[in-house]
Amino acid sequence: MLSVIKSIVLQGLEGILVNVEVDISSGMPGWQIIGLPDIGVKESKERIRTAIKNCGIDLLSRKYIINLSPADIRKEGSFLDLPIAIGVLKAMGIIKIKELKNVVFIGELSLNGDLKSINGVLPMCIEALRNGIKKIIVPKNNAKEAAVVNGIEVIGVSSLKELICYLNNEILIKREFVNINQLFNKTDSFDIDFSDVKGQNGVKRALEIAVSGFHNILMIGSPGIGKTMMAKRIATILPNLSFEDALEVTKIYSIFGNTKDNYLITKRPFRIPHHTISKVSLIGGGRVPKPGEISLSHKGVLFLDELSEFDRNVLEALRGPIEDKKVLISRIQASFMYPSNFMLVASMNPCPCGYLGSSERKCKCTNFQINNYKSKISGPLLDRIDMQVEVPNIKYNSFSKCIQETSSQIRKRVNNARDIQIKRYKKYGIQTNSELDTKLINRFCKLDKVSKDLLNQFFERMNLSARTYFKILKVARTIADLDNMENICKEHILEAIQYRSLDEK
Ligand SMILES: [Zn+2]
Repeated sequence: MLSVIKSIVLQGLEGILVNVEVDISSGMPGWQIIGLPDIGVKESKERIRTAIKNCGIDLLSRKYIINLSPADIRKEGSFLDLPIAIGVLKAMGIIKIKELKNVVFIGELSLNGDLKSINGVLPMCIEALRNGIKKIIVPKNNAKEAAVVNGIEVIGVSSLKELICYLNNEILIKREFVNINQLFNKTDSFDIDFSDVKGQNGVKRALEIAVSGFHNILMIGSPGIGKTMMAKRIATILPNLSFEDALEVTKIYSIFGNTKDNYLITKRPFRIPHHTISKVSLIGGGRVPKPGEISLSHKGVLFLDELSEFDRNVLEALRGPIEDKKVLISRIQASFMYPSNFMLVASMNPCPCGYLGSSERKCKCTNFQINNYKSKISGPLLDRIDMQVEVPNIKYNSFSKCIQETSSQIRKRVNNARDIQIKRYKKYGIQTNSELDTKLINRFCKLDKVSKDLLNQFFERMNLSARTYFKILKVARTIADLDNMENICKEHILEAIQYRSLDEK
């Protein structure tokens, strides 16, 4: 008897529909899995056989051929356990239901027949829906994550035995349901707030602009003046995440298995990798290519504290993904594309001792040391940072009596500026000012004569690159949006120029 069961395999974030064909015939007894399975899939036959036996079903001594098609795609992972088991049971006549054409099965079996939760359920479910599949059977612990996808019936099961009964119409299992609105309407709670930061209003303003337009930003200042403290509070003013973007972010976390308790990520990610991070962990890769920190920060923030401590080669590898907003990891069998549209926030000291230009202490570094220190961060990487701000030395106590703005007050303005951008760029496939290309800059960052002259003067005096010129325009566009102004004015240009503090030196 022959049976055909549908399942999904993943290549990076992309799901591919596969057919699991099972044929049982007389002949030399044994199990054979063909169709480019990896070692993990090949080993699954022992698990599947034992799981079926432990459901109280006798496997006859026959020839079992299991074919995974299309044959040219490598099949990895243990989630093909379930479709193979169901295929075998259907070919044996134990599962009596005839029509399984519109059903996808995914799940790993344990030896006693229980279903274990797996990674990557969300991208698999999205792919199933895209292929017109009506129902997806997943491990019970993954059901909520799958049910986030609208338009497909999700059934969560806890064991093979339960599933056999369900497919034979002996029991009912309720369709899984998730209330998306409820997930999004949860009020954000953070245990940190911008009002904890006393003073530093100029830097706070710069961070608000950066977050509003999704501009990469570098903070330069002496140790202990609150760079890290402020950077961490960026998480509390990030704009709302739309449902579509939330799905995109959750897909990445799903293949990492980080969605167990948080089956839909509704907040923008904020990642702080340590400076000893390897290139593979930052960019992505490995034997089975996994997304790196740059992809885990997708639609959110990647914060690199003490930029100069990072390995130069690791930083160099950031250039491409910052530009392309995605990363391509090539392997012999396939290439994997992971999105990496993140906002880079970085901090560094002005010199090795940290006190160059400080009023508190005298810098002890030689010119050679200072140049060497700065050259660790390559020009091309700096060139991809829209805003550079100096964090001044401010005596903490002198500001402690002032009332500080709360994160939720700042966040309101950020959300408003983001909404303006989303609306304006709806037709152009982008969401923020930082994504503007030259053509769109010419269209949306028009300057009056006074502003144009001002910018040209600065441009010539500082001998800036064309790239920097456009960065200033993009940041000025964001400042105008925060002002609710349709046109960029002189004040906006003047303020945007201030955020190029490294160019002035
Ligand atoms: Zn120094």
